[in-house]
Amino acid sequence: MQPLLPYLLGADHPAGHRLTDSQTCLRAQDIDEVGDNRHTTFFEMLGNWSLGDYFKAEQIPQIWEFLTARVGLDPSRLYVTCFSGDPAHGIPKDTESAEIWTRLFTEAGLSADQVELDTEEHGGEVGSQGARISFYGKKNWWCRGGSAESMPVGEPGGPDSEMFYLYPQIQHDVAYGAHCHPNCDCGRYIEIGNSVFMEYGRTETGFEALPRRNVDFGGGLARIAAASIDSPDVFRINLMWPIVAQLEELSGRSYDTDTVAMRVIADHLRGATFLAVDGVRPSNKEQGYVMRRLIRRAIRYAFDLGLQQNFFPQIIPTVASMYTQDYPEVAERAEVVEAVMAKEEKAFRRTLNKGIKQLRGYRAGIGGAELFVLHDTFGFPVELSTEEARRQNIPLTDGWQAGFDEKMAEQRARSQAATRMKIG
Ligand code: ATP
Ligand code: MG
Repeated sequence: MQPLLPYLLGADHPAGHRLTDSQTCLRAQDIDEVGDNRHTTFFEMLGNWSLGDYFKAEQIPQIWEFLTARVGLDPSRLYVTCFSGDPAHGIPKDTESAEIWTRLFTEAGLSADQVELDTEEHGGEVGSQGARISFYGKKNWWCRGGSAESMPVGEPGGPDSEMFYLYPQIQHDVAYGAHCHPNCDCGRYIEIGNSVFMEYGRTETGFEALPRRNVDFGGGLARIAAASIDSPDVFRINLMWPIVAQLEELSGRSYDTDTVAMRVIADHLRGATFLAVDGVRPSNKEQGYVMRRLIRRAIRYAFDLGLQQNFFPQIIPTVASMYTQDYPEVAERAEVVEAVMAKEEKAFRRTLNKGIKQLRGYRAGIGGAELFVLHDTFGFPVELSTEEARRQNIPLTDGWQAGFDEKMAEQRARSQAATRMKIG
């Protein structure tokens, strides 16, 4: 999305007005979701873009054809969401998309009932009642800032329409709400694609219809592949399963009983491998820190599976082998990637055991000072320590974050002073 922004705003793209792409992405913000049946931090996103070219009337039937005729999904298990409107900003309900979907479902001999759910909370209270098309408010509005209020003047935004695949083999879990609906987090409906219709621009006083409208479709390859084999679990596709199978073999454990740990390890090592291929190296800053967090968290989970010796040299080649055909750079850089990963594993394993013991010793509570020791002496990223504390039922004291930040700032000041002295 970001690299295309100038073209979404009107510049001419050298490849034309209709683009398709497949992008690797790493959503570090999804790290805590990993462990369920559908989220990974690293994934491949399939995209279709209309830069001022086709719009809803062409795009919705096109994606319908892709999902049903090409991928072969069962149309009776497809459910969609549309935007219910934003009266406060004078933005109407997206009836146009809903009408196109209604026609497609009806032509396929399927019901096309509509339901207004507005928010996820309300959806959980009333459920989607079998409706094919569910309307939500903010959830189906797209803009870069996230909400209509926070959009700067000149920014484009618009309604989106999301596609979900229903897995009747998954029972709704009331922990997520009394009733199920497409945006319920129980995993019975899985979002496989999202079409964003950029048709409004923010003005000084409100919104105006844009003369040049764009479409951005994004669909997760793994989720679409999983749907094509009727698996609600994305880890069962052949781009993921070999990693899990090898984890089973190395640990002697089963995916059925150690599901979460194996999902976390498989995902995190795949993400870290791709970062290494892109030239990122583990560090305490920015992308390097994300990479370090992924690797160290994977090792922590592996520890519980009994994988207490270095195992990256066995598993990383398996991870890489699945991508060598589509991403030649993975094969080209395999040796250095394996070395980088192995080095980071070795470094962390030296302190992991002692770090866990140290942490368990803080029974009375963990605050900024303890988190700093775990970080500085034992190489525990702060998120790993807080996660571990919760797992061990050790309380985090009030203000731990501020305390930790303060210790980190002090350390930075100390090292800057030391550098100045050396230079001086
Ligand atoms: P979800 O609500 O399931 O987290 P999302 O609303 O965050 O999905 P989008 O930001 O709309 O998803 O991304 C477009 C598509 O990318 C989704 O329809 C889905 O197919 C895929 N996708 C999004 N997040 C992930 C993820 N963490 N792992 C795998 N695929 C994903
Ligand atoms: Mg998400």
